[in-house]
Amino acid sequence: YQPKADLVTGKICGFEALLRWQHPDKGMVLPGDFIPMLEETGLIVQAGEWVFHTACVQIKAWQKAALKVPPISVNLSARQFEQKNLKGVVRRILRDTRVDPSLIEFEITESLLMNDPAGAARTLHDLKESGVRLSMDDFGTGYSSLGYLKRFPIDTLKIDRTFVRDITTDADDATLTRAIINLAQNLRLKVIAEGVETEDQLAFLRANGCDEMQGYLFAKPAGAEECERMLREGRKLKFPRAVRKEKSGAQSRRAHA
Ligand code: C2E
Ligand code: CA
Ligand code: CA
Repeated sequence: YQPKADLVTGKICGFEALLRWQHPDKGMVLPGDFIPMLEETGLIVQAGEWVFHTACVQIKAWQKAALKVPPISVNLSARQFEQKNLKGVVRRILRDTRVDPSLIEFEITESLLMNDPAGAARTLHDLKESGVRLSMDDFGTGYSSLGYLKRFPIDTLKIDRTFVRDITTDADDATLTRAIINLAQNLRLKVIAEGVETEDQLAFLRANGCDEMQGYLFAKPAGAEECERMLREGRKLKFPRAVRKEKSGAQSRRAHA
């Protein structure tokens, strides 16, 4: 799980479940090396269900340990998203584990949603009915139809790492990131930046009103025990320079957007 931090309070405001394979000989294998194979064989459907179930069980375990648990995001692959009975599977796991659905967020990539926007809108509405949150992952890399963006019942836009990487060195990436933040604010969506590695990137995101961040600057993905420790200790993201604009500034920017 990799923690996400709130850019106003610095507190942990969520986790993303990221799959790892502990191989007997090869050691820790990253998803880039095995997810494509799971996708091809269709095994990703079962693996993804396992990830979701495991995240739910983890939430319950932390709650039992008297921790205040923030939402956990789970990535949904194309195969899962296109699965006929996705809604039924989600409902069953939520019911079996008795997890509050608002503590679950599904991350679905922009390019997957834009494959078949009308079909995606229906699936998203189905999922939304079970009370979970929805996030559009890798935002900025696909070709979003802005009309659909408004019709999708999503809660969050997640700015792709490739924009974040160059926001302090590439004027175009800075402009695009600012535009995505403004777009999210106008559509009343939460906006999170992924892959934040430097203090300059953090300062830029805060100055431009981004809500949340995720990245090595705060924490790398970690096992459940370490994440539990972070929750227990109330781990916070440190803000080196106070640059965040006042709310009124964000609102007047919004009015001009
Ligand atoms: P993603 O959903 O875009 O996840 C974010 C990736 O960025 C993760 O890579 C994370 O470890 C990495 N990351 C986070 N912060 C930083 C940073 O500051 N710098 C850099 N360079 N990287 C950072 P990871 O864990 O290797 O996962 C790669 C991809 O594999 C994920 O991209 C996601 O598409 C897929 N994936 C991971 N777990 C699952 C899963 O359970 N189900 C499905 N369907 N896909 C998964
Ligand atoms: Ca993701
Ligand atoms: Ca990404």
